[in-house]
Amino acid sequence: PWTDDEGHIRTNRGWRVQFNSAIGPYKGGIRFHPSVNQSILKFLGFEQTFKNSLTGLPMGGGKGGTNFNPKGKSDLEVMRFCQSFMTELQRHIGEDTDVPAGDIGVGAREIGYMFGQYKRINNKFVGVLTGKGLEFGGSKMRTEATGYGAVFFANNMLQHVKDSLEGKTVLISGSGNVATHAAEKILSLGGKPITLSDSGGFIHCEQGFSQEQIDWIKELKDVKRGRISEAAIEFQNVSFTENAKPWRVSANIAIPSATQNEISGSDANTMIKNGINLVAEAANMPCDQEAVDSFVEAGVKFGPAKAVNAGGVGVSGLEMSQNSARIAWDSDHLANLLETMMKDIHNSCVEFGESEGGINYLQGANIAGFVKVADAMLAYGHV
Ligand code: NDP
Repeated sequence: PWTDDEGHIRTNRGWRVQFNSAIGPYKGGIRFHPSVNQSILKFLGFEQTFKNSLTGLPMGGGKGGTNFNPKGKSDLEVMRFCQSFMTELQRHIGEDTDVPAGDIGVGAREIGYMFGQYKRINNKFVGVLTGKGLEFGGSKMRTEATGYGAVFFANNMLQHVKDSLEGKTVLISGSGNVATHAAEKILSLGGKPITLSDSGGFIHCEQGFSQEQIDWIKELKDVKRGRISEAAIEFQNVSFTENAKPWRVSANIAIPSATQNEISGSDANTMIKNGINLVAEAANMPCDQEAVDSFVEAGVKFGPAKAVNAGGVGVSGLEMSQNSARIAWDSDHLANLLETMMKDIHNSCVEFGESEGGINYLQGANIAGFVKVADAMLAYGHV
């Protein structure tokens, strides 16, 4: 329960799914979105277990969230909700038990309010949440990690077949943390991010977004909490299409970065026809099963979420290490660790995903992630 600005008491539901702690404390994001339910959090927690294993760091899998809708709420309403949510959650988490992070609708502001409430109640300053502000135990590179890591992974997939991102056009969905940082890294590696979106529609820039435009969009979403359509009013070379996803635009690569099931089988067939030959899932499971099957059958290089977006939780794991040791590493060091981690994950996928038709990244990521968790569970014996 929380109190809105008019003094009314409102109620939302919240969940935490602690899926598996065989190789480390439960770890996974907290999502604030009206669509959240227990079923979504269970599949995300299941996937998270294998993703975390792929990073090579000691983290188990979990996920949490609430159907609270932060859109249109004032700062104070968000604060009161976060405090109420943490008043219950705090008894279930801990730096060696379960370490939540941000996800859709949960960024630095929400993590700050939740960490503050945890600290107030427990009188402990410990690394119980990741994605914290840099002033109070957050890690440099955490904000950038998921989007940058996804692009590093896509680049590794290209390099494996002696190709590169240079000059490639890239469709991105979403305009939040993951999408904007993916766009930024594509640009810096010589590619052209040509679309971004939100739940109201998508924007398209044929020449590719510039760094200034990406910075403007980050501020629009993070600070002004505006809509992506506003970018088409601000920039002459940007168009907006209402109530549509970017998947009909012709391009070389797609990096879906908004939410689950945002690419259907029929979207996938359109994308294949329009020239997409690499898909890297930066969001969690954005392609539905039919879409995955279509991409794999058509020989499109397909990077699954648990490998592609593992850089986010990877740097969260490094935030936990820094908190435990009470130290702070610099950005260059963390950027190098992230790049190496993504290369290692790619190599694990190659090792376990070798097949006649080339690398099956889906199989590679599933097997590589599973083996370590299963071995640990077997080693613990039965009770
Ligand atoms: P943000 O809240 O920062 O941004 C989400 C973006 O996706 C917004 O543009 C939002 O538009 C759009 N979106 C969300 N839900 C829907 C929907 N149902 N339909 C259409 N558009 C939607 O989230 P993140 O960038 O953090 O997360 C994006 C994806 O990446 C998620 O799948 C998340 O689980 C995954 N992920 C995130 C990590 C991280 O470090 N942040 C780590 C690993 C995975 P609108 O504002 O209109 O809702």
